[in-house]
Amino acid sequence: MIKNVLLIGVGGVGQVFVRKWDLLDPKPFSLHVASRRKSSCDAVRSKCTSPFDTYEVDANDVGAVAQLIKKTNADLVVNLALPYQDLSIMDACLQSGSHYLDTANYEPPDAAKFEYSWQWAYQERFKQAGLMAVLGCGFDPGMTNIYCAHALKHHFDSIETVDILDCNGGSHGHPFATNFNPEINIREITQRGRFFEDGEWKETDPLSVKIDFDFPGVGVRSAYLMYHEELESLALHLPGVQRIRFWMTFSESYLTHLKVLENVGMTRIDPVIHNGVEIIPIQFLKTLLPDPTSLAENYSGKTSIGCLISGVKDGEPKSIFIYNVCDHHECFLEVGSQAISYTTGVPALLGAVLMMDGSWNAPGVFNLEQLNPDPFMARIEKFGLPYKEIAHVALS
Ligand code: NDP
Repeated sequence: MIKNVLLIGVGGVGQVFVRKWDLLDPKPFSLHVASRRKSSCDAVRSKCTSPFDTYEVDANDVGAVAQLIKKTNADLVVNLALPYQDLSIMDACLQSGSHYLDTANYEPPDAAKFEYSWQWAYQERFKQAGLMAVLGCGFDPGMTNIYCAHALKHHFDSIETVDILDCNGGSHGHPFATNFNPEINIREITQRGRFFEDGEWKETDPLSVKIDFDFPGVGVRSAYLMYHEELESLALHLPGVQRIRFWMTFSESYLTHLKVLENVGMTRIDPVIHNGVEIIPIQFLKTLLPDPTSLAENYSGKTSIGCLISGVKDGEPKSIFIYNVCDHHECFLEVGSQAISYTTGVPALLGAVLMMDGSWNAPGVFNLEQLNPDPFMARIEKFGLPYKEIAHVALS
């Protein structure tokens, strides 16, 4: 019997999930699509040829989500709404007996944390219910975790260092815009830098450390050290790893805009009173900025994201770079999206396929490096994100 998947949230990433599912033949599962506004679901349905039902749901409402899971008979809920909704959707899955997958860690609305503690606390409940929760199945986190698991299984006896290098070498023509949800994106970038070294976490001022790196498909770009959520799980799950860092590229113009917005208080996430009304500056800023999905049509250039991993194989030092290059315009031609949404929505779709066909099947809460990378790596090229592995000098 074909299984049912309920997708919640059809913003930039959710739309890619739906459009790519629409292209799959045969269909690995039936799809039900829900979002805060039913109109968002109907808009993407109008671009698809395969039939699916659409629903309106507030993902903060555990009871309403549980009811919808029962109504749609969903075996799996794919959460592509916002990180604020992770826990309520996980609770609803436990109430109604559904597996769970997401692409971003839970975030409390009033503090930027980027940590897994809240979701890891669900371990026993998912285990006892015989249900599986897969966390962070996008690109980073997601593919980057899988690249590490693949490297450990097939290239190294032990891994010593990991540098995750994330470059968006594309151009959308706007002076300032974010490529995914602006609130989450800006929170992430303005926090203090952090990396794992010799068993402890070390901090840096935000975006204060940079390197130049030659990104395949893009060229040399400045990449800035910042904290990213997969560092936490990889530091825990890669045995004996000595150092893990995350680097992301930003243009000078982007950084200047961001600095000004920060300096005038527009990136604040605490409430302020404006004309007698309480507003949260970063949410107001989101209203002013271009919708990330609207960037797709005029986006040119490529993303280039990978893991530079060093370690030991057969007693010899070794280091490799595993990466994907993705072209914004090709994504637009295929599914009407830019590459940031594409590189997140495609791994989420493949993760859902692997959970539904039983390739990934274990009770409990998992980050991707804890799962078997082989079925994922075997199929990811066909799903649209080919990878390359090259020998590469490790970063100092
Ligand atoms: P968007 O803001 O474009 O979309 C979010 C969607 O969630 C919207 O469609 C919105 O609904 C829906 N939504 C918001 N609140 C609710 C609610 N209370 N109930 C139901 N639906 C709700 O975000 P993105 O698509 O850019 O990002 C989606 C997720 O992917 C985020 O968690 C983001 O952090 C993550 N991400 C992960 C990446 C990775 O590599 N791992 C990279 C990029 C993003 P509506 O339209 O109906 O109002």
